[in-house]
Amino acid sequence: MLDVLVIGAGIMGASVSRELSKYNLNIAVLEKENDVSNGTTKANSAIVHAGYDAQEGSLMAKYNVEGCAMYKELSEEVDAPYRNIGSYVMAFSEEERKHVEALYERGLANGVPNMRIMEREEILEKEPNINKNVVCALWAPSAGVTGPYELCIKLFENAAENGVDIVLNAEVKNIEKKDGSYKVILKDGREFETKVVINSSGVYADKINDMVSKEHFDIHPRIGEYYILDKVETHLTNSVIFQCPTEMGKGVLVAQTVHGNIIVGPTAHDVQDRDCVASTQEGLDDIKRQAEKSIKNINYRDNIRNFTGIRAEPSTGDFIIGEAKDAEGFFNIAGTKSPGLSSAPAIGKDVAKMVVEKLKATKKENFKNNRKRIHFMELSQEEKAKLIEKDPRYGRIICRCESITEGEIVDAIHRKVGARTVDGVKKRCRPGAGRCQGGFCGPRVQEILSRELGKDLNEIVQDKKGSYILTNETKEVK
Ligand SMILES: Cc1cc2nc3c(=O)[nH]c(=O)nc-3n(C[C@H](O)[C@H](O)[C@H](O)COP(=O)(O)OP(=O)(O)OC[C@H]3O[C@@H](n4cnc5c(N)ncnc54)[C@H](O)[C@@H]3O)c2cc1C
Repeated sequence: MLDVLVIGAGIMGASVSRELSKYNLNIAVLEKENDVSNGTTKANSAIVHAGYDAQEGSLMAKYNVEGCAMYKELSEEVDAPYRNIGSYVMAFSEEERKHVEALYERGLANGVPNMRIMEREEILEKEPNINKNVVCALWAPSAGVTGPYELCIKLFENAAENGVDIVLNAEVKNIEKKDGSYKVILKDGREFETKVVINSSGVYADKINDMVSKEHFDIHPRIGEYYILDKVETHLTNSVIFQCPTEMGKGVLVAQTVHGNIIVGPTAHDVQDRDCVASTQEGLDDIKRQAEKSIKNINYRDNIRNFTGIRAEPSTGDFIIGEAKDAEGFFNIAGTKSPGLSSAPAIGKDVAKMVVEKLKATKKENFKNNRKRIHFMELSQEEKAKLIEKDPRYGRIICRCESITEGEIVDAIHRKVGARTVDGVKKRCRPGAGRCQGGFCGPRVQEILSRELGKDLNEIVQDKKGSYILTNETKEVK
């Protein structure tokens, strides 16, 4: 019998599992995909919002401000990238100034630290590429940018180091309530008995909730499309540039990513399909048109990637967090739309506290922190030489765009919750994330995966189940 079973391996599942791994509990995580962080957590704006957007008194406001304050320390602790670069909400007319002032007031009510309204001259000094029509902006220095999949993976890695069992390719089909426990049944027939269930299944959280609780809510999928520009465009902004928000969300942003690329987007369109991650020409054109308002002449010839993420819009309008009233031991972390990523550390901590109290769990004495990964290019010449002498695989550059070595790729495969796919390697140590998008290094990464996992080259997939790269030989060699 498990103590805790977490459904869904996104940032919410990661935050709560890692927090719970500090306690003497028997925990498993079930994920329907073949890797962790393969849902909404891998495709979003990656902004750690300051917390002035959400309505005063909402759970979104509370957890956003608390989560934002936790990011720096947490990222250092688990060795995930994070940069505290601050954010602006730009006003381009006196009418929009009123929005900015309202956001400022809301930020104060939500407890956002150190915000101020910045006027035109100072903005243009700090952000010279901003449209010269700018009037003023809300400057929030506590905002930042994260690597969402890196943080998620590192949290799971740390949870696994501390005994949490992460079960991939495990789709939950049904949950049966028993006396004081739950039986969780997978699509492939496997069954798990557990005292507590945590539902962190993203856009499917309403379906999982309906399996045990009559307190119904709906999740509506809403897509957001993006451009990622090459690092040659890094100069466009030093921080995160928002426009005044609309009914559909925070509008189109232009921001530096945690790795120094430029991200432009997202759109906001309601869709029916919860797994829809297609980008549309219409959506991408819309982003270009809207982004012009903030920064003119963005060079989209430096676009290296488009992608689409799916927001989990809750019918309640707020996060749904905590134990269901009619299902003891069943906890929801649902309706996790933005600012879910920013809020995840605080939500994880809070839900873990509720579970620990319920199970009267005791703290572990031997909790281990993550082993830091080697970022070869960040080492001194002397350190590089020493490392190559010890392990020559660090002397072989596989990804020329991001300068990633074979040693780093092999490490990403053999760590806890290690990479099993080409994109899994990219998410962990970035080969394929640069200008050529894996055109050169993709086949090399595939070969390394095949060798290290002892699998046939044809069995290595790009990303999700069935995304085969090679299917059969095209030439017979005699
Ligand atoms: C376009 C867009 C932009 C955003 N920008 C920001 C931002 O800048 N800042 C911010 O704070 N937030 C942002 N967000 C929100 C943030 O990305 C989400 O709040 C967060 O990623 C949600 O994490 P999650 O763990 O709840 O969901 P997910 O990452 O989707 O994880 C849920 C997991 O559950 C699994 N699952 C589902 N059903 C089952 C089942 N039956 N059995 C087993 N597993 C199952 C899924 O495969 C998935 O891996 C944005 C979201 C989008 C879409």
